[in-house]
Amino acid sequence: MGKIKVVLWDIDGTLLDFQVAEKHAIYACFEKLGLGQCTDEMLEDYIEINAGYWRRLERGELTKQQVLVGRFEEFFGKYGIDAAKAPAFNEEYQLRLGDTICFCENGLETVKALKGQALQYAVTNGTKTAQERKLAGSGLDKLLDGVFISEIIGIEKPMKGFFEKTFQEIGAFCKEEMMIVGDSLTSDIQGGNNAGIVTCWYNPAGKERPADLRIDYDIRDIGEVADIVGR
Ligand SMILES: [Mg+2]
Repeated sequence: MGKIKVVLWDIDGTLLDFQVAEKHAIYACFEKLGLGQCTDEMLEDYIEINAGYWRRLERGELTKQQVLVGRFEEFFGKYGIDAAKAPAFNEEYQLRLGDTICFCENGLETVKALKGQALQYAVTNGTKTAQERKLAGSGLDKLLDGVFISEIIGIEKPMKGFFEKTFQEIGAFCKEEMMIVGDSLTSDIQGGNNAGIVTCWYNPAGKERPADLRIDYDIRDIGEVADIVGR
């Protein structure tokens, strides 16, 4: 492997703590729309429903809009909440997601440390509304060299086309000089495999590596990215 000159960062669950932002956003929307209380158990349930919808998006089975509204329709259906409220709920939710900014451990420090050493870009499947607010609120928009949001590009990560479009903008680099860092096997690591670039799996819990994906680096701490780039 050559020296890494370009780092493609996943945002949610990699640089920013998505679980904290998600929890606060869901609670705020329940209050705003007068839906009563969302219990911890309901939240757990929603998280599972939501994950299923995003996996279907990554496989190309659903559109982004079907995911965004469908997950809440299913969730509301389960708890006797009017499913017709799902579109309005989602709209509010996208705004509220940007309210709570919490970095994953060593996320901000590592992006700062790499400044000047490598070009850094965000590659994310979140919505334009939520991601732009989050990136501005966290200051990442100023620290990174650019941002690629699937909703703007029109293709989801891990599709090869998503990366082809980003490469067109980033310019001429060898594939072995580019590395994606992310917590998701199905979107980040699969995406890196599809694009033929170096892959770095942020795996803080030390989960078992799957045999069917090429994982060049398996890290527990985001800070390790600086060591990899510095090699
Ligand atoms: Mg992620």
